[in-house]
Amino acid sequence: MEKKNLDWANIGFGYHQTDKRYVAEYKNGAWGEGKLVDDANVVLSECACVFQYAQTCFEGLKAYTTEDGHIVCFRPDMNAKRMADTAKRLEMPVFPEEKFVEAVCEVVKANAAWVPPYGTGATLYIRPYMMGTNSVIGVKPAEEYQFRIFVTPVGPYFKGGAKPLTIRISDFDRAAPNGTGNIKAGLNYAMSLHPIMEAHRAGFDENMYLDPQTRTKVEETGGANIIFITKDGKLVTPKSNSILPSITRRSLLYVAEHYLHMQVEEREVLFEEVPEFVECGLCGTAAVISPVGKINDHGKEICFASGMERMGETIQKLYDTLTGIQMGNIEAPEGWVKTIL
Ligand SMILES: *Cc1c(COP(=O)(O)O)cnc(C)c1O
Repeated sequence: MEKKNLDWANIGFGYHQTDKRYVAEYKNGAWGEGKLVDDANVVLSECACVFQYAQTCFEGLKAYTTEDGHIVCFRPDMNAKRMADTAKRLEMPVFPEEKFVEAVCEVVKANAAWVPPYGTGATLYIRPYMMGTNSVIGVKPAEEYQFRIFVTPVGPYFKGGAKPLTIRISDFDRAAPNGTGNIKAGLNYAMSLHPIMEAHRAGFDENMYLDPQTRTKVEETGGANIIFITKDGKLVTPKSNSILPSITRRSLLYVAEHYLHMQVEEREVLFEEVPEFVECGLCGTAAVISPVGKINDHGKEICFASGMERMGETIQKLYDTLTGIQMGNIEAPEGWVKTIL
């Protein structure tokens, strides 16, 4: 198969329209047969539920080429399950989890020429999403839906190494205590746009959100879970029912415990205790782990011992091990790496 002629290392993090996308429609209480289509546009009623009441959710995962030339993706069953949980909370029909994984494989196969070659650092980002499509004006869930998947090649997240980030404590809240923080819904991102732009305008890379009820506990950032490393090499990550259950973070916890033989704690983390940690990282599919060098709390700085030049030693080990597993250079736990081609 001939690869597209792109400058893979420099394609950046934008959208590139690829050849095929997957569409399945839900009507009269059932999902129809899904299929691959060429048209990248979605044409809907002006009154579609997704436009009026934001009834939409999404997932994100990546496919990449391994050293021995296979195309694989990482734990797509976890995305299928998470999207099912999200759909239930938004009164949307669940797209069957097995079909979700099959559809992911189908779209990636159909766009194999767009999967960046091994060693370029680029990957194929896969975006499954679902939306209420029929017209709804009185507030209620839609009766018709589309489940779609498109893919787009994305460049290496860290060009020239991962520079530690400076994040700030936000005065905005991300998720209410019994709200929608634990699901991957577009609405959680709509409301995060203003805080992130404000953070950027003030010179920060991201917002760290505290629990809205007491503002004493660490939750997560706008789009990534948080891990900390203690002086004695323990991994600590916040536990809260308003944090989005990151597949990267859950995989890192497993890697820490079973590959690196570290102690792992998932528990409430008081903001007060953050200065005691020596390393901090943000985890999600896009970057795997972005190191945090500094947290700014209304002008007061917490500087991690790992500094502003490079990833801390322990986070680097976690990063290398997980990416090694993903790339097929380190043996993966059963079922983690799905071979597509
Ligand atoms: C998607 C997402 C993450 C990261 O999840 P992964 O499954 O690791 O990609 C973290 N936080 C939020 C709010 C998210 O939407």
